Amino acid sequence: MLEVKPNCELCDRDLPPASKEAMICSYECTYCSDCVETTLHNVCPTCGGGFTMRPIRPVRAEGGQANLGLSNRPAGTQRYHTKWSREQIDAVVSRLKNVPPEKR
Ligand SMILES: [Zn+2]
Ligand SMILES: [Zn+2]
Repeated sequence: MLEVKPNCELCDRDLPPASKEAMICSYECTYCSDCVETTLHNVCPTCGGGFTMRPIRPVRAEGGQANLGLSNRPAGTQRYHTKWSREQIDAVVSRLKNVPPEKR
């Protein structure tokens, strides 16, 4: 289950559960779409993978399973900040940005 982290790990902007700007890698490293496009170029600095839009968890559980939804499985509140320096990020990005994620 996704933690649904509350912020971009690079620019620290808020990414609430309903945000359409939240992007995640397969490990749920979480960044805003601006940082993914302009700084990361679809390269996660931690794992080297690509990003996809974070699915929006519904507020209420209106599917078949009644104990889901944000009301039962709230979004995470712990804020994360990338441990990589800008130089480290740029090095990984320049190495991988021209390799499509499925070839990394
Ligand atoms: Zn950002
Ligand atoms: Zn990652």
